[in-house]
Amino acid sequence: MKTYRVPMVPGPTSVSREVLEAGAVDFASADLEQEYVELYVARGEALGEVVQTKHDVVIQTGEGMLALWGAMKSSLRAGDRVLVLSTGLFGSGMADMARAIGCEARTVEYGYDETLKNFGRIEEAIREFRPKMITMVQNETPSGTMNPVAEVGELKVKYRVPLLYVDAVSGIGGSDVRTDEWHVDFCLGGSQKCLSAPASMSFLAVSEEAWGIVEEVGYAGYDALLPFRTAVRDAYFPYTPYWQGTAQLYKACRLLLEEGLEHVVARHERVAAYCRERVREMGLRLYPAEGAVASPTVTAVYVPEGMAWKELDARLRQEGVAMGGNYGCLAGKVFRIGHMGTQANLNRVKEALDVLEVAVRR
Ligand SMILES: *Cc1c(COP(=O)(O)O)cnc(C)c1O
Repeated sequence: MKTYRVPMVPGPTSVSREVLEAGAVDFASADLEQEYVELYVARGEALGEVVQTKHDVVIQTGEGMLALWGAMKSSLRAGDRVLVLSTGLFGSGMADMARAIGCEARTVEYGYDETLKNFGRIEEAIREFRPKMITMVQNETPSGTMNPVAEVGELKVKYRVPLLYVDAVSGIGGSDVRTDEWHVDFCLGGSQKCLSAPASMSFLAVSEEAWGIVEEVGYAGYDALLPFRTAVRDAYFPYTPYWQGTAQLYKACRLLLEEGLEHVVARHERVAAYCRERVREMGLRLYPAEGAVASPTVTAVYVPEGMAWKELDARLRQEGVAMGGNYGCLAGKVFRIGHMGTQANLNRVKEALDVLEVAVRR
């Protein structure tokens, strides 16, 4: 197994011993034990606090993409209209997902280095297209940017759009996610980003209105949400739950709540500001455009001119530092420093940036 002294990849993030050990459960006949139902409920309440919702939080076994697909397939039918707000790779990918289900998708497109602005554009698209669902990404991990959700939530309410679907996978646990206040119907998360649990679980907050639509659609499948509506009441899960993963996710939430959400958010902002400052001082260029909101959980930086990412990556790894590469049109051009969860630690980020500073010198 390869280990790095300073893991700074924007997910999976390094897992603390406490969280790892929370998974050391050797009797885990979860579908038969009331104890699991109690853990499931406790974990739902803790996650509900983290994403600031009074509604249900469903947990599924599988990474973040599982919840992203499950929520879409459970609430949309072929022919439904989906308005996709895109400021990056994950945002634009949602149009492909909706089309794969047979939906009609329209994208309001921004640059990958931008964040949502000119809300009149979005308002006009809603008025014209009358979508059943609006999708957006709160924290665009590949771009290192964070989108405002509140304004979109207001438009959803104003135009009575049935569903607001928000991928907050890399923002939950590292930023102020206000699911109910922002009128989010599906607030989607995963275990391996700011929560710093192993890459094994996904979760989502589901509003009452969304449950109504999920019932009406009646989608069946491994990723279906519907069986989770009655899971606690009936003490019946659609497949064997992953007890260990649930226990780890619960522990990760408890650690955040013990630290205090406000403190957690402040810690991420402090570390991110320090990271951006240092990167600028090194003469490197941040990826987000002027006026875009930089993410508090991940910083995206242009690979310096005249240096291949492969070379820079090798130099960093030689010194025990692992940073993140990129995907799609950003591959090889923009790299990422993941200061989320356990990695939102000033000493660790400082250590990584000291290594980066030497590595970018030719
Ligand atoms: C990590 C991530 C996901 C989920 O990806 P997985 O590979 O399933 O963990 C979804 N959206 C965003 C923005 C992410 O950063």
